[in-house]
Amino acid sequence: MPLQPRSNSKELAKTMGDIEPCYRPQEAKVEADRCLYCFDAPCIMACPTGIDIPGFIKKIANANLVGSARVILESNILGASCARVCPTEVLCEGACVMLDRDEKPIKIGRLQRYATDALWEKKANPFPKTPKRNGKKVALVGSGPASLGCAAELARLGYQAVVFEKDAEPGGLNRYGIAYYKMTPEVAKQEVKWVKDLGVEFRCKSEVGKNVKVEKLLKDFDALFLGVGLGKAHRLGIPGEDKKGVVEALEFIRWIHTKPLHQVPVGSRVAVIGCGNTAIDAVTQAKRLGAKEAVIVYRRGEEDMPAYEYEYELAKTDACGFLFHTAVVEVLGGKEVTGLRLAKTRTDKHGKTEIVKGSVFEEPFDMVIKATGQEKQAPAWKKFLPKLKFDDKGRIEVQKGTGQTSVPKVFAGGDAVNGGREVVNAVAEGKKAALAIHAMLSGQKVAGPIQGSRLGHQDGPRGSGFLQPVRVPELEAAYFTAMKNGAHRG
Ligand code: SF4
Repeated sequence: MPLQPRSNSKELAKTMGDIEPCYRPQEAKVEADRCLYCFDAPCIMACPTGIDIPGFIKKIANANLVGSARVILESNILGASCARVCPTEVLCEGACVMLDRDEKPIKIGRLQRYATDALWEKKANPFPKTPKRNGKKVALVGSGPASLGCAAELARLGYQAVVFEKDAEPGGLNRYGIAYYKMTPEVAKQEVKWVKDLGVEFRCKSEVGKNVKVEKLLKDFDALFLGVGLGKAHRLGIPGEDKKGVVEALEFIRWIHTKPLHQVPVGSRVAVIGCGNTAIDAVTQAKRLGAKEAVIVYRRGEEDMPAYEYEYELAKTDACGFLFHTAVVEVLGGKEVTGLRLAKTRTDKHGKTEIVKGSVFEEPFDMVIKATGQEKQAPAWKKFLPKLKFDDKGRIEVQKGTGQTSVPKVFAGGDAVNGGREVVNAVAEGKKAALAIHAMLSGQKVAGPIQGSRLGHQDGPRGSGFLQPVRVPELEAAYFTAMKNGAHRG
């Protein structure tokens, strides 16, 4: 795979950079002043972490930016990254009452970014008081959004939270797996710092199951949270798949976050297999890094693509190509990929795709990126925790709303449980698990789901409106008692 000639990292950073830069003060003020500060605001209900959206917008309107950021981070410690990566169009902004008035919804995501960026720039501590410790310890496996959400909440409730991460740096998907134009690694690092400032300990290069024994964690800690995410990309199961130049989408995005941009390998003609949001990230990143052509290959039609509409629009704006109703039959080449053998497909009345006879054709490519989903790595945990249960899709089974697994002391959340959703869903699940762990360790009954406007909302299935608020008074009571007794709320 040839390395495309590129100027330098500084120039590329501009090309790769923000698609929607941070508001300027006047812009933020004008947008904040449009908000109606609704009572029982539907935007709060649509946020899986239950951020007090009118509350933080009001503070922006009053020029209290640090206070505004605190409101956000109290509910969602990853509020800065969610401001950048959340599908706001289908969450908070999609629920904004302005839409009922045929007006544009309030740009909640951009305002959220404006407030959290201001806190970051001012180097202000979001939670200035030191949380009181209660003497109990919780171990968290993996340092992605679910674990960060859980660890931050536990620390604020007075627990000693210790995060075990196999990578050299914490942050998981936020640190290594999000397209550069949405979020740079600096944002993920800053958020980890905020979690560290709460007293959470991170032990990197610590792979649980390898250099850290699960039995030891169960013995030394009062509870265990599994935020282990997903594993490697699915194999395509076609000839030539292991040729040089065939890479996984998340590996490609990881290079962007770990190498100087001008040294990230990218082909001249790049094919991305798959059509989800990760595929769109990969194809747009390849194009912006210097690929002459970057093309999505998808076996179904435009109407079936799982990527969000605005992601699709972005890829089209970046002049990426789309081969719909096309299946990959073989990766061509010697040691290195030189092209793909493809075939046209059609969808039968049962929704199954089949190859159209006599439609095989070849296209030259010097890089192929696989973005067809990831394998579940959680089932590997069966050997460490034989009583851990999984569903038929390989996801860890948990009690809805509490994250408690079939092993009472073990909780789980994020992609390993939900199969791969948004960052904000992972944070919400981590937070709920923290509250359930707190209920368990403080002698309350752990029963789900945990809900309430202050504690976030139970997610419905994608597209369901994400709303099923249900309260569990005993868990909320435990939570508020802890706060009253000195647990930390910033
Ligand atoms: Fe403001 Fe829209 Fe939320 Fe109402 S629904 S509080 S107008 S952002």
